Amino acid sequence: MLEKVLIANRGEIALRILRACRELDIPTVAVHSTADSTLKHVRLADESVCIGPAPSTQSYLQAPAILSAAEITGADGIHPGYGFLSENADFAEQVERSGFKFIGPRSETIRLMGDKVSAKHQMRKSGVPTVPGSEGALPDDPEEVLRIARDIGYPVIVKAAAGGGGRGMRVVHNEEVLLSSIEVTQSEAAAAFGSPVVYMEKFLQRPRHVEIQILADGQGNAVHLGDRDCSLQRRHQKIIEEAPAPGIPDDVREEVGAACVQACIDMGYTGAGTFEFLYEDGRFFFIEMNTRVQVEHPVTEMITGVDIVKEQLLIAGGQKLSIKQSDISFNGHAIECRINAEDPRTFMPSPGLIKTFHAPGGHGVRVDSHIYSGYQVPPHYDSLIGKLITHGDDREIALKKMRQALDEFVVEGIRTNSALHRELVVDPSFVAGGVSIHYLESKLEHEH
Ligand code: ADP
Repeated sequence: MLEKVLIANRGEIALRILRACRELDIPTVAVHSTADSTLKHVRLADESVCIGPAPSTQSYLQAPAILSAAEITGADGIHPGYGFLSENADFAEQVERSGFKFIGPRSETIRLMGDKVSAKHQMRKSGVPTVPGSEGALPDDPEEVLRIARDIGYPVIVKAAAGGGGRGMRVVHNEEVLLSSIEVTQSEAAAAFGSPVVYMEKFLQRPRHVEIQILADGQGNAVHLGDRDCSLQRRHQKIIEEAPAPGIPDDVREEVGAACVQACIDMGYTGAGTFEFLYEDGRFFFIEMNTRVQVEHPVTEMITGVDIVKEQLLIAGGQKLSIKQSDISFNGHAIECRINAEDPRTFMPSPGLIKTFHAPGGHGVRVDSHIYSGYQVPPHYDSLIGKLITHGDDREIALKKMRQALDEFVVEGIRTNSALHRELVVDPSFVAGGVSIHYLESKLEHEH
C-alpha cells in the first residue's frame, strides 16, 4: 500500500484524487503554484508545498520542483492526474529513478503509446482494430507513398507520429496534392514535436468518438469497464460525454473490450487507461491510447460502480486487481457536462471572482468541482471549473436529471458555458443519440 501520495495537479482532478486517498487512509501532499494557494484540495491536504510561480511551465510542469516536494515531505507515490506531466514518459522515468511510485503505467509503456506509429503497431499485434493505413511510418520513395494512398483510397489523413492535442495532421483529398501535403506536415511536425515522422490512414468522414476504459494490474490481470461516447467536441475538446455509448450492440462492445484487455496483458500495462476509437458503420478503429485517468472517467464509475481513481492507487501500491470481468455489469446511463469558465458564444475564457456558487443535487446527481463562493478562477490554466454528472436507469432519465441539474446550477461573477449545455441537452439530434464528431461544430456554425 502507498504510504503518502503527492498530487501533482490542480483543480477538480486534484480534489478527486485527494478524496480517493482519504477513503484509503493515505495521507496527501498538495503541490501548487503561487496562484493556487486557495484551491480547495490545498486546504484539505495533510501537507502542501508551493512549487513555483503561476505559469505552469514554472510550476506544474517543473519535474525537479515536484520531485523535491516529494522528497522533503516523504511521499512515496506521485499521482499526475491528467494534462501537465501525466503522459510525459521522461517525467515518469525520473519519478521511477528517484525511487517514487508513478501512479500510472511504466515509463516505457507511456513512451510506446505516446508514439502513434508504435502504438498502432502494438494494437495490430494484439488484435485491436485500427484505421486502415500505412504499415508504420511513410517511406521516402514517392512512388511507394502514392501507391499506399491509392490502396487506402482517398480521402486520406497524414498524421505526425509524435502529434497530440489534435495538431499535426492534414486531410488529403486527391493525389495531386498528396506529396506536397506530406512535406508540409513533416516540417510542421519536426518544428512542433521534434520528429518529422508521419504516417497515413484512411480519413473517416462521419465517425463518432467512442472509447474503452480499462484497468490492469501489471500482474497479468486486466478488465474493461465498457465504453463512453465523447463525440460532442469543439476543436478536439470534449464537451459532453456519456456511458454507455448509445446504440452499440453488446457483442460489438464485448469484442472490442476483450481486444483492449488482451492488448493490456500483452503490454504488461499497469493502472488505468483508455483506448480511443473512431466508430463508423458499426466498426471500431483505434486512434490512440491515453495512459492516464481521463476527465470523463466519472460516467464509467456511475454505470459500473467501480472507483477508477481508487483502483489506480491500489494498483500502484502493488495490489492485484480485485475485480474480474465477470464482476462488472453496466447499470443504467450516465452523462457528464464539462463546465468551463468561458463565454458560451465566443468561448473566450472568463476567469475572475466567483461571487456565488450553488451546486445542484439530488438522486443520481454528482458534482466534481473545486469551486466555491469567493473562489478566484485564475487566468493561467485550463478553463474547466467543474463537471456535472447525472445517472439514471436509462438515457432519457439521465438526460432529464441533467436538464434539472443545469437549471439548479448557479455561478455568479464569471461567465460559464452552462447556457450551451442547456441548449445541447434538448437538441433533437443529441437527444436521439449517436451524433458524429462534427455535429457540434456544424451546429455552432449554422447558428451564429
Ligand atoms: P491527438 O493525439 O492529436 O488527439 P488523434 O489521433 O487522437 O490525435 O486524433 C485527433 C482527432 O483527429 C480525432 O478525434 C478525430 O477527430 C480526428 N482524426 C484522427 N484520425 C482520423 C481519421 N483517420 N479519420 C477521421 N478523423 C480522424
